Amino acid sequence: MPDRYVRFVNSRMGKGLAKRLGLPPAAPLRRYTVGEAEFIASASLGSAPGGTCEAIAKETLTQCDITIRRQSDDDRIDGIFYDASGIRTITDLNELYEFFPAQLRRLNRNGRVVIASAALDDTTESDEAVIVQTALEGFARSLGKEVRPGATVQLIRVPAGAEQHLAAPLRFFFSRRSAFVSGQVVSLDARCTASADGWDLKGQTAIVTGAVGGIGRSTVEVLAAYGAHVVCVDVPAVKSELEKLAQEMNGTAVALDVTSASAATDLAAALPSGADVIVHNAGITRDKTLARMSREQWQTVLDINLEAPRRITNELLNSGKLNSGARQVVLSSVSGIAGNRGQSNYATSKAGLVGLTHALAGPMREREGSVNAIAPGFIETKMTAKMPTMTREVARRLSSLGQGGSSVDVAETIGWLSLPGSRAVNGQTVRVCGQNLMGA
Ligand code: NAD
Repeated sequence: MPDRYVRFVNSRMGKGLAKRLGLPPAAPLRRYTVGEAEFIASASLGSAPGGTCEAIAKETLTQCDITIRRQSDDDRIDGIFYDASGIRTITDLNELYEFFPAQLRRLNRNGRVVIASAALDDTTESDEAVIVQTALEGFARSLGKEVRPGATVQLIRVPAGAEQHLAAPLRFFFSRRSAFVSGQVVSLDARCTASADGWDLKGQTAIVTGAVGGIGRSTVEVLAAYGAHVVCVDVPAVKSELEKLAQEMNGTAVALDVTSASAATDLAAALPSGADVIVHNAGITRDKTLARMSREQWQTVLDINLEAPRRITNELLNSGKLNSGARQVVLSSVSGIAGNRGQSNYATSKAGLVGLTHALAGPMREREGSVNAIAPGFIETKMTAKMPTMTREVARRLSSLGQGGSSVDVAETIGWLSLPGSRAVNGQTVRVCGQNLMGA
């Protein structure tokens, strides 16, 4: 379903009218496409006194060929990095005011802002330190609603000693791959012992369940483009489509129902050298208010969306088929975070997946791996195209980016969390929702 609003408010006639009527802005998002620059072109850097993250930011941005512009210049920039990890007092918060206004005026449309902050566990020296580091979340999320159209803002919590792991979120959030992710707070794992590098999947095996669906297919494409051999899993009813996809991607097709008792063993048989990535993407909805919901509608959703990922992961872990250092990604949903009328079964299963990431973060860290949840918001798919026009319009405009996302936006975020270099992002839930108000 094309988003005519975005086209209209960016047309010559629509621009002026939208301004006069106070309509929300929405810029066409600049997404990464093969053959185009992956990263933004330029950024300015700043730091509050006592910060520990500026050096790694400078190094990472330079490696990504991002030109670092001086704070005092007034030419345009595509990104801003600010190290707020040294902020400890309410007075220190004024540093934000000293740095940001001038830099924000330079920021281009579709720009990127990343703020590094201290891990709350590292601020126990005083109540005030905890207060101000928490205050940064409100600051970052408000900036997300103020920056130029198409621009995004994130806050990364960096534990002392884990600064080198900041490279992973910086590489994603300063790239064109993160176009629909904004207003997120991501904490790096203080106890991560994995190395902070590995930016492709060459020679690695990735499993994607629900592979022929909207998000599944995009994920297979993204992981294959990173160099992974992708094991594509979907129900036997779509076997021919599945085989075609696997063939196009030089992968392997495995037709099975994830709820079947033999799912993990059937999958293991297709993994001669184990799996390095597993994406639990297969999922269904069976919407009804609870009072009218059949037992079958309740049960099927919990079985496919929640019990199957838990069981398959446990069985692959126990049989040694998830390799050391493996990354897991589960598909939750903003409905699971915010709740949604008519989706008590779905939201229960999707919130349960957030719980699964919390429960498995420790065991995955011990294996030098990771597990994270992705919570898509309003994504333009066949499912959302069926929504009533007004509901769909409201859902789109509720996000700071003023539009819905695409399957590719979700797939790129899955791709980021699947990279070996991203393993210090562990036990997190990242929303791919354009900073939607729902569940914010
Ligand atoms: P989709 O319906 O296009 O694809 C889902 C795929 O899962 C289908 O190919 C289907 O055949 C497969 N599947 C279903 N039951 C299965 C089973 N028992 N065994 C194996 N495969 C099975 O859905 P999508 O929009 O691509 O969503 C993918 C995931 O993202 C789902 O978990 C969904 O809940 C989640 N999600 C989607 C959105 C959205 O806006 N599309 C929003 C939030 C969360």
